[in-house]
Amino acid sequence: MQFFSTRDQNRKVTSSQAIAQGLSDEGGLFVPESFPQVDVKALCGLDYPALAAAVVREYLTDYDPAFLTEATRSTYGAAFGGKAGYLAPVEGDTYALELWHGPTSAFKDMALQLLPHLLTVAASKTAEGKTIVILVATSGDTGKAALEGFKDVPNTKILVFYPEEGVSPMQKLQMTTQEGDNVGVCAIHGNFDDAQTGVKAIFTDPAITEKLAQKNMMFSSANSINWGRLVPQIVYYISAYCDLLKDGSIELGDKMNVVVPTGNFGNILAAYYARRMGLPIQKLICASNANNVLTDFLQTGKYDRNRSFYTTMSPSMDILISSNLERLLFDLCGQDDAQVRAWMDSLKQDGCYDVGRSMLNKLKTLFAAGCCNDSRTKMTIRETYNNTHYLCDTHTAVAVDVCKQYLLRTGDNTPVLIASTANPFKFSASVLSAVGNGQVESSDEFGMVQELSSLTGEQVPPQLAGLAQKKQRFTKVCERDEMKNVVYEMLGIES
Ligand SMILES: *Cc1c(COP(=O)(O)O)cnc(C)c1O
Repeated sequence: MQFFSTRDQNRKVTSSQAIAQGLSDEGGLFVPESFPQVDVKALCGLDYPALAAAVVREYLTDYDPAFLTEATRSTYGAAFGGKAGYLAPVEGDTYALELWHGPTSAFKDMALQLLPHLLTVAASKTAEGKTIVILVATSGDTGKAALEGFKDVPNTKILVFYPEEGVSPMQKLQMTTQEGDNVGVCAIHGNFDDAQTGVKAIFTDPAITEKLAQKNMMFSSANSINWGRLVPQIVYYISAYCDLLKDGSIELGDKMNVVVPTGNFGNILAAYYARRMGLPIQKLICASNANNVLTDFLQTGKYDRNRSFYTTMSPSMDILISSNLERLLFDLCGQDDAQVRAWMDSLKQDGCYDVGRSMLNKLKTLFAAGCCNDSRTKMTIRETYNNTHYLCDTHTAVAVDVCKQYLLRTGDNTPVLIASTANPFKFSASVLSAVGNGQVESSDEFGMVQELSSLTGEQVPPQLAGLAQKKQRFTKVCERDEMKNVVYEMLGIES
């Protein structure tokens, strides 16, 4: 299996090169040349780690299959307490696909616990002896999940940038208290898009790359632009389908709809890829918060980031440039790299592009979209809890609301899978104020965590409760144009 860049088809690489490099040199994203078809029935006979190995193997053809079997087994065993890709009924034909039973309580663990295994092998194949420097821009969850995945992994260093005002207190604490000798964390004055743009600029700056090379280091990415992030996410959609089959909610071949709370378009793209591999998914429903650039795009075909940016209670979706959309467009326009390049140039120059009528029609057959602001998010958390006793976090609530809007609008009675992307205790203030009807007594984060737990009877994940006792190691805040220097400093390079 070869991979090529969405902006230049002549740049072909193997899977390990795609994973080691993260992003193509000219700024394009690596995509597989084709989508292998899977035998859903056969896959349903496997447990989660074996299913993951079977799917991942289809793409990572230059990895040793025995290594992949071992890596998925060690990743999706104990760390997820047997709850990798866990399905919980919400009501009627709606199910929450809980993806947050890993070490950092967000769905990013599903990919970022496996990625270090994939990346260290990729590095040894393509860049022997080099230290891999992982640069991450995060809206909260990726940063912690990547830090936890890469901490003390030999021959790697990891450096995370997050928007100072753009993450929840729990997310901030998770990052500032991170342990490990090869880790660094820095806040920036700016929003997530600023952090992501800064990281991309550092990646593609030849002068910086050269300085790293002199120190025998190379950059890679743990953001969802890395193919190694996407492929483990395809797995849980297949596994969830199998679970629905097993409990008799559907029969083999029946369709399901999928609702995904979306930010950088990685998770929903993985669902699209599962569909491309033959999983019977009917509609992919894209849920956004007040930053509804994708809702507008999927309804009009015009992507326009020239709009206000909102800081919401679902910070991991506060994004106006959804990077992975580029991969979808590449696939839907018949792998026309020149066309994708033109759209992305226009996005860079003017902040917008229009894909035209025929692409819009294709998008509309596959996707539905909706958005939900903060007050609706809160109302949804409260109503869902009161009506079904299902406690959702702020991101999942956006998906629950958009799902309801979709069902009202269409009357579609296909079973629905809602991607539940974070544990509610990561966003205690918002969730507590929703279920407590605004009556919140505590003023500090851990007081609210306790209050939420007593009110709902839900268990606080020990890794979150334990943060109260941890020392803060990383309190640095920098300007956008200082990110480069922070990188040099962390790596011990003179600027
Ligand atoms: C990252 C994240 C999202 C958005 O996922 P994308 O792959 O960026 O679309 C949604 N919810 C939570 C909790 C997240 O951490």
